[in-house]
Amino acid sequence: MKKLVFVTGGVCSSLGKGVTASSIGSLLEARGLSVRMMKIDPYLNVDAGTMNPYQHGEVYVTDDGAETDLDLGNYARFTNAPIARANSITTGQVYQEVIEKERQGRFLGRTVQVIPHITDAIKARIHAVADSPDVDITIVEVGGTVGDMESIPFLEAARQIIHEEGHQNAVSVHVTLIPRVSGGELKTKPTQHSVKELQEVGIQPDVLVVRCDEPVEGMRRKIAAFTNVDFEGVISAHDVPVTIYEIPLVFHEQKLDVYLLRRMNIESRHADLRAWKEMVRKFREPKRRVRIGVVGKYMELVDAYKSVWEALHHGGIANDAVVDIVRIDSGDFEGEQADPAKALADVQGILIPGGFGHRGTSGMVAAVRWAREHKMPCFGICLGMQIMTIEWARTVLGWEDADSSEFQPDSKHPVVSLLEEQLEVKNYGGTMRLGASASVLKEGTRVREAYGSETIQERHRHRYEFSNAYRADMEASGLRITGLTPDGTLVECVEWPDHPWGVGVQFHPEFKSRPVAPHPLFRAFVKACLGYAG
Ligand code: GLN
Repeated sequence: MKKLVFVTGGVCSSLGKGVTASSIGSLLEARGLSVRMMKIDPYLNVDAGTMNPYQHGEVYVTDDGAETDLDLGNYARFTNAPIARANSITTGQVYQEVIEKERQGRFLGRTVQVIPHITDAIKARIHAVADSPDVDITIVEVGGTVGDMESIPFLEAARQIIHEEGHQNAVSVHVTLIPRVSGGELKTKPTQHSVKELQEVGIQPDVLVVRCDEPVEGMRRKIAAFTNVDFEGVISAHDVPVTIYEIPLVFHEQKLDVYLLRRMNIESRHADLRAWKEMVRKFREPKRRVRIGVVGKYMELVDAYKSVWEALHHGGIANDAVVDIVRIDSGDFEGEQADPAKALADVQGILIPGGFGHRGTSGMVAAVRWAREHKMPCFGICLGMQIMTIEWARTVLGWEDADSSEFQPDSKHPVVSLLEEQLEVKNYGGTMRLGASASVLKEGTRVREAYGSETIQERHRHRYEFSNAYRADMEASGLRITGLTPDGTLVECVEWPDHPWGVGVQFHPEFKSRPVAPHPLFRAFVKACLGYAG
């Protein structure tokens, strides 16, 4: 029998439902079970592709090219579960599917309603993942907060599944908050109310994961008594000092995995958490520190580059070092007063992450130029690689107006442009290149050295390309083109000559980095930064 775990949240948003779901997944995997992860987003957008990263955080891209919520990135970092389009459901997708079916006349004249048609479509999507033969347990995180109007159809679908499959096959984990009021006292009332709200839609939680700034040990019995949850099912998710990767261990100490498995009648081996514990130990006891600047816009929002931050930390522990990330606004490099030497004075390397739109790009070019000329390690990702290309063309080739046709459509030197412009095909549509594809790396290059293999698979999310019209000029002037698509048509990686580590990649390596398997490029970049003497 397949098992399901529904993770919901109450009291308020941003309590760490994603990390809770991921941590449960990682614990169950440590016991040898095959886990799948799903995220439900109760918004009407069909996917996260068009959503503003200011508001919503990073768009996480899957191998099969889905643009999803950043929680999917957490799943990929905490578990080995394959993450694809099918693992992300939005209200928009479900409605689109049901309305299309209605237009095709496939409801045979019946009235189409939220219950049962929308709920059935939701259930079918959950079953499509959970029922596949190689899966033991599927963890479904329901976004939003219980009580929100938007989540009602999803909670109803969860309720029906729990009822149909039986309580030993589908369990509910509810994440709540114990706030501290003035005077310092901790309050359980919001948790009680939130559980009541969940019970009102017909779901009795089996586990309560309670967020609090300190361990809630003393209140566990009281919470259990008020909510009909077993004492062992009340789990304290207190703040952890060093890294969120400690959370699976915090849950394990309180035997959450043992309790869940008992509730679901699952036999498993003992948890093998050796690799995970060793990784957390490295976070706690670093031998060195390194300061790395990330230059971009959107810097004010912590979540917009979530996977980049995490991959940098992973690259750090791969080198027994803690990475202190310094967010640097590209605006600091623009205008008369700009002083790159000052802006980069206390970092040992810079990373230029992905991005869209003209704003901020001239500052990025200035930062990259300084790093190249001062032999500071520089890692350009997607837009970052394009910026490195533009900077080279402007400074080394002397084409002052060199640009991407995204930023300056009438540039005389569009060194980054749409493929169809390069091929002189009009009205092609400028579609985005999305998802995983292969690149071939040249021998004797930084990228090849880092990966240790000739062919790699990485994910893309971009429209513009390094322009082939300028490939010969770029190479003749010394820029190294070190990675190409297998057919040789598209440039995937560039490198600076005579420089300790200046690498630009057109893809997004950050999506594939895991704390227990740091990404080779981040490992190599952090190593280079550690070696920068200034
Ligand atoms: N804006 C650039 C493009 O569309 C880069 C995209 C990115 O960095 N993800 O090609």
